[in-house]
Amino acid sequence: MVNFQPARLVNGSPVVFRVKAPAGVRSLHGKWLDHEVSFRWDAPRKTWYALAGVSLETQPGAYPLSLQASLPDGRESTFQQKIPVRAGKYPSIAIRVAGKYTEPDPEQLRQIAEDKKVKQEAFRSLTPQAEWAGTFSPPVSAPISDVFGTRRTFNGKVQSVHQGLDYGVPAGTPVLAINRGTVLLARPLYFEGNCVVIDHGQGLLSLYLHLSEIQVKEGDAVERGHMLGLSGSTGRATGPHLHIAVRWQGTYLSPAVLLALGLPAAAPAGQD
Ligand SMILES: [Zn+2]
Repeated sequence: MVNFQPARLVNGSPVVFRVKAPAGVRSLHGKWLDHEVSFRWDAPRKTWYALAGVSLETQPGAYPLSLQASLPDGRESTFQQKIPVRAGKYPSIAIRVAGKYTEPDPEQLRQIAEDKKVKQEAFRSLTPQAEWAGTFSPPVSAPISDVFGTRRTFNGKVQSVHQGLDYGVPAGTPVLAINRGTVLLARPLYFEGNCVVIDHGQGLLSLYLHLSEIQVKEGDAVERGHMLGLSGSTGRATGPHLHIAVRWQGTYLSPAVLLALGLPAAAPAGQD
């Protein structure tokens, strides 16, 4: 039987699936919206759990979670359950930024194309196994200034969807890792400004943008709460704030929902 959190699942949301499987199941894998999902064993609650997501582009409907369990005698058992996805309600706003961010010149366009290659390259080789463990914690303790999924129009011209969460913090505020992982990128980019990306494993990334200062290096291992740098307003920012984003297997998900999910503290490899 499959349970999921949040109970009202919308497009753009991360989701935790929990499965009660027969005793002795050795491993559990799932398929969900064309993504591979690997489950971990939560011994105290005697359930298998996995983190997954629903892209913003997913239409409302009921989508199957297909499960495949390895049994102790070597046989495979399969199970499928339909999970309802509802339509999220996302606001629209207008924003003004410097003209170079809506009408970049040829040199700036070259830099933007270069950044795109850097990101594609970095996102290609991710850690397959989970490095994250337990509940995710906020990168700063501050009020939220813009939510995920807002449809924005920049300078009346460029339209985009806000693929992260903004915290209204003054420049120089310490920015902390939301969970354990490896620093994948730590460098300045055109739109992102000084930017840190953490690879949490299983295709899950967290991104921290517009920093005034970066205090980690690419390849560093970080724990939850590790200081990554200081907030700022570098790149396409209307003023000092922290933008964080969560990317799962190529799609951006709501960071606020991820931060609110209850997840098991320990993450042993298999069921004993
Ligand atoms: Zn933002």
